[in-house]
Order: sequence, then C-alpha cells, then structure tokens
Amino acid sequence: MSAKLFQFLDVPRQPPRTVPVAVRVLGYGEIGGDFASPQASTQAERCIDCGNPYCEHACPVHNYIPNWLKLVQQGRIMEAATLMHETNPLPEICGRVCPQDRLCEGACTLEQTDFGSVTIGSIERWVTDEALRQGWRPDLSNVKETGHRVAVIGAGPAGLACADRLRRVGIAVDVYDRQREIGGLLTFGIPPFKLDKGVVRTRRDVLEGMGVRFLLNKEVGRDVEFGALLDEYDAIFIGTGAYTYVDAQLPGRELRGVHDALPFLIANTERLLRDEPASTFDFRDKHVVVLGGGDTGMDCNRTAIRLGAKSVTCIYRRDEASMPGSAREVSYSREEGVTFLFHRQPVAILDNGHGHVRGVRVVETHLVDDGNGRLKPQNVPGTETEIVADVIIQSFGFLPSPPDWLAAHGVELSAAGKIVTSANGKLPHQTSHPRIFAGGDNVRGADLVVRAVYDGREAAASIALTLAKETANSLVSR
Ligand code: FAD
Ligand code: SF4
Repeated sequence: MSAKLFQFLDVPRQPPRTVPVAVRVLGYGEIGGDFASPQASTQAERCIDCGNPYCEHACPVHNYIPNWLKLVQQGRIMEAATLMHETNPLPEICGRVCPQDRLCEGACTLEQTDFGSVTIGSIERWVTDEALRQGWRPDLSNVKETGHRVAVIGAGPAGLACADRLRRVGIAVDVYDRQREIGGLLTFGIPPFKLDKGVVRTRRDVLEGMGVRFLLNKEVGRDVEFGALLDEYDAIFIGTGAYTYVDAQLPGRELRGVHDALPFLIANTERLLRDEPASTFDFRDKHVVVLGGGDTGMDCNRTAIRLGAKSVTCIYRRDEASMPGSAREVSYSREEGVTFLFHRQPVAILDNGHGHVRGVRVVETHLVDDGNGRLKPQNVPGTETEIVADVIIQSFGFLPSPPDWLAAHGVELSAAGKIVTSANGKLPHQTSHPRIFAGGDNVRGADLVVRAVYDGREAAASIALTLAKETANSLVSR
C-alpha cells in the first residue's frame, strides 16, 4: 500500500496559479501558470489509486492516468512522458485545452467527495513540457520501415495524431494542409491565451524529427488533385475539420459590426502571429455582445475583452448548467469582466439607420422537457427587450463542410455532411472507400481536440492493419 495513500487529507487540490486578471487581460499570453517540480509530484501524490480509475474511462484517449501519476511521484518524468505518449500523441496540448471538469477530473473519485479532483490536466501538461524541454523525443530506433506511404489531409489534431501513430509503425507520412502552419484550429482557432502557438511549433519539431513530412499551403482539390493522391499513396486519412458556421438567420446579420466567431478569432490570431496592431477589431469604447454559450463563444468573450471592449455581454438561450462548454472557461470569462445573460433568445439584430448594428432584440426563454430527457428553450411571449451593442459576434457552432471531391470518389456522407466511417463490415474509421479513412470534426461535427486525437490514433491502427493485410495477401498469392 502506498505510504501516500491519505495525502489528499492533508494536501488540498492546488492547480498552478493563473496569471492575475489585471495582467492577463492586457495581452494574449497563456493564463495557466506552471507547477514548480515539487508541487507537481505533491499534487500527483493526492491520487488515492482507487482501483476503479473512472478518470481513465472518462478520458477519451483512455490515458493511463494513475500509472503516470505514480511515475511523477517518483520523479521519473521522462518515463511518465513516454507512458503519456502511448495513448496520447499530443499530451501537452490536451493538458492545456481539454475541458477536464467534464472529462478526467470530473470523473476522479476524489471529485465525488469534498476533496477536489487530482489536477490531472495540469500534471499532464507540466510533465510533457518539462520532458520536451529536457530533450525527450519518441524512441523509434526499433521501428522497421514498411515501405508503405500514407497521405494525411489536414494538419489539425486528428491528422497530427494519425501521422504520429503511422510513423511509430514504420509507415511514411506526408501531411497536406492549406494553411501555412500546422495545427488546424490549435493554431488558427483557439486563442493564444489558452494555447501558446510556440507549443504547437515544438510539436511540429517532434513530428518532423519522427520523419513526418508537412506539405503546407497545399489545398487538396485546388493545388493538389485528390485522385492523384489516391494513385500515389497506399492509403489516405482525411482530417479536414468542420468549417461551416451555423447560421441562425437572424434579420440584420448583414449589418456592419456583425461578425462570425471563427473568422473573427482567426483574423485576430493571424495579426498576432504577424505582430500587427488590432486595426480591424479595435473594440475600445465599444459594447460587444457575443451570441452563443459554447467554448468558441467564451474565446470570443475573452478576445473582445483583450481588444479593449467597454463591455462584453454573452447571451445564451438556456441556463448556466446547460452550457455546452467547459465551466472553467465560463469562470475565466466572468473573472475577466464578461456579463452573462441566460434564458435569452436573440430574434433580430438592429440597424442604427446607417447600415451599422445598434443592438440586438432578445426574448426570454424557459426550459421545457422535449420528451427525450433534454431541456429545450421556449420563447416567453411578450418578454422582448433590446440590448445595446456596437459589435455583435455570432457563435452558434460549426457544421462539416465536405469538399466535392469526397463524394466524387465514392466516400459516403451523411445527410448532415459528415463523413460516414466504421460502417458494418468496415474497420474503425474506414470510410465506404477501402483505402480512405477519416476522423475528427469532419466525422463527428464540431467537437473536442482530444476526440479528434483519438480518431486519428485509431484510424492509424486501421490503416496499418489494412496495409499489413495487403502485404500478407500479396505474399500468399506469389
Ligand atoms: P481542425 O483542427 O479543424 O483541422 C483541420 C485541418 O484541415 C485544418 O488545418 C485545415 O486547414 C485543413 N484542411 C481542410 N480542408 C483542407 C483541404 N482541402 N486541403 C488541405 N487542408 C485542408 N476543443 C477543445 O478540446 N478545447 C478547446 O478549448 C477548444 N476551443 C476551441 C475554440 C475554437 C474557437 C474552436 C473553433 C474550436 C475549439 N475546440 C476546442 C474544438 C477543436 O479545436 C476541434 O474539435 C479540433 O481542432 C478538431 O480537429 P480536426 O483535426 O478534426 O480539425
Ligand atoms: Fe484529461 Fe484530456 Fe489528459 Fe485525458 S487527455 S487525461 S481528458 S486532460
């Protein structure tokens, strides 16, 4: 039995300190602080090794959490990093951006008591950062090259995870992306105060060191023919994400001052990467209203605060408990000065008479059971009010945007435009075309980084199996 079994009685849950609000809103630096080394192991020692690690079950990639917490307790950081990578090709990124309160930490046995969960995400982040800083790299010295070649389309978390796994079994990988940098939404969607872009660049170095080749500024279907890739490679993984904005069709959405969340966040990240001032989105002295209560909405709130907004109001049509995003992000928004208005449905964006927004009309809602156990907002007649706004950011979510070339090559899509995978008789993540695999947001719809990572990892296993079978068959038929 561990001598530290009852550590949690004496040592409270203590995540790393965040940067003070007054400082963090002045810039875009990551707000999560770092553990000092003894703190990380003291926090790891709070794990009670409960025997039923629900945390592992709730983690979408099923990390070996109690096992690596033990290694951290013993100061064996490099081994902990190796174990983390067995299940998760991007642990430092998931440690930063996973909504742990809904996943691993929410399921921690200590969380079900008054003691508070083990700080799993912060430890995962700290270990990987520290190991990479000390020179940790995956050991591929025993890997034999198979001679197979795979093209990955999309350098987001799904594509990166797939590339990592394929290299570990000796399959050559070329990753194509239309952007000039890898990461997908990790680089161009998620703001730097949640994920520093240097973290993604370090991961690029690791992957290139493993032999992954990135072909950037190459849009498949425009710069490269999909059919040519099918001819050239043994298999293809498609991790192209979901980029069609949900349009609530609000009257007035064409007015000046109305923005969609993703182009707004991308434009701001792009200009930060170029070190340019905020000329397009200078929100000083402006009242900003964000419509939508998901993680993207929280990112818009907090970006608007950093752009100098006089006020930021976030409008959501259900109650706080029903918000789809991470509770941590909602509390950061609040700390940074965002006001939330719950139970409000926007019905129209209002014109100031000169083609510019002057506000939004909302109606109050109440929640009714839709018969399937879900609470649906219903408008309460006669409760319309107007909220003043100089800027409105619409953040209603994203849908897949399947390119034409998919269907043209016999890849089945659902009515909602999602790529259909893992159908009866198919391997996990295999599409209706035997040599094409897919995963991430283009299969699930807008979701989480860690689920895209899971898909990429598992798709790589299916690809490796398919190619190994083909090799075996060709040997038998000789
Ligand atoms: P993406 O990350 O979208 O990557 C797809 C890649 O494919 C892109 O690089 C794109 O350029 C490329 N591509 C597309 N078409 C082509 C083509 N034809 N040719 C070449 N390249 C192509 N999740 C979390 O877990 N935590 C968070 O805090 C969080 N915050 C978010 C904040 C915002 C603003 C947004 C929009 C999403 C957030 N998410 C968060 C969700 C998360 O980012 C996504 O679920 C995840 O990135 C999906 O990964 P993916 O690899 O499927 O797609
Ligand atoms: Fe938790 Fe995400 Fe890490 Fe899994 S990958 S242990 S859910 S932070």
